Amino acid sequence: MPPPLQTPTVVTQRAAIRDRIIEARRSGLRVGIVPTMGALHAGHLSLVQASTEQCDRTVVSIFVNPTQFLPGEDYQRYPRTIDGDLAKLAQLDVDAVFAPTVQELYRPQHSTFVEPPTVASGWEGVHRPGHFRGVVTVVVKLFHAMPADLAFLGQKDYQQARVVEQVVEELDIPIQIQVCPTVRESDGLAMSSRNAYLNANQRRQALGLVTALRTARDLVQRGQREVQLLKDAMHSTLEQHGIRRFDYATLVHPLTMDELQRVEDSAVAIVAAHVGNTRLIDNLCVDVDR
Ligand code: AMP
Repeated sequence: MPPPLQTPTVVTQRAAIRDRIIEARRSGLRVGIVPTMGALHAGHLSLVQASTEQCDRTVVSIFVNPTQFLPGEDYQRYPRTIDGDLAKLAQLDVDAVFAPTVQELYRPQHSTFVEPPTVASGWEGVHRPGHFRGVVTVVVKLFHAMPADLAFLGQKDYQQARVVEQVVEELDIPIQIQVCPTVRESDGLAMSSRNAYLNANQRRQALGLVTALRTARDLVQRGQREVQLLKDAMHSTLEQHGIRRFDYATLVHPLTMDELQRVEDSAVAIVAAHVGNTRLIDNLCVDVDR
């Protein structure tokens, strides 16, 4: 490993990170932020790298946001690896890490939530009711605490990125959103902090998600346009990988996220499936060659 550039400064107070960013911008520097829940992997680090390439200062936030987890989900056991995360960020040119406590970000009787936009209503919105309400609320709070020029998000959470883009536009939040490509393991599995939950057998089964997406993409490229048939092929691919429970596997419009009947030009194949007790999501952009 190359020697550390510099261990980022850890800031836990909202006012302190806000002042730091405002001061940097006042002196003419361009500031990028990368909001995360920690347990950093190469997918997160690619966002950090995109920010360090395009901005003078990069701030990474690490906050496991309780309001976006549903009762019974993995909030308590979500991996928290702050020391390892800081060591990884020390290899990159990160100015500061904003790592607030829950009490710092949410007041004791917090009761204000932001109603998510229409693009949040399907898919994750159906299968994790309330999830996007928590995401949108924390994103607005984080964007207030970190008033940067740019925010870097991952395509891995495609619907979340669309939701955040819509919120920023409709609530006039002065920040530019940049969505960066999904980083995958060498066999294609999308990197995710939740992959740490998988045992060896489940890790093999998890490949069913990306294989289903690639099956749909390959069929489209070979001329198949009927979404029902593409869905059937995705479903059988999941089943062939031993995945018996999936929430959805289909093709949607890239902006509205409405399910398509036919693929006319561009589409996004999306999937959410349960592997053991772990729920995984993935997606792939599918373009029709003309
Ligand atoms: P999370 O820590 O899961 O909330 O993710 C923080 C950010 O990293 C989000 O914008 C995610 O979309 C992004 N991200 C997560 N996994 C990946 C990946 N495999 N490739 C690219 N971005 C990712």
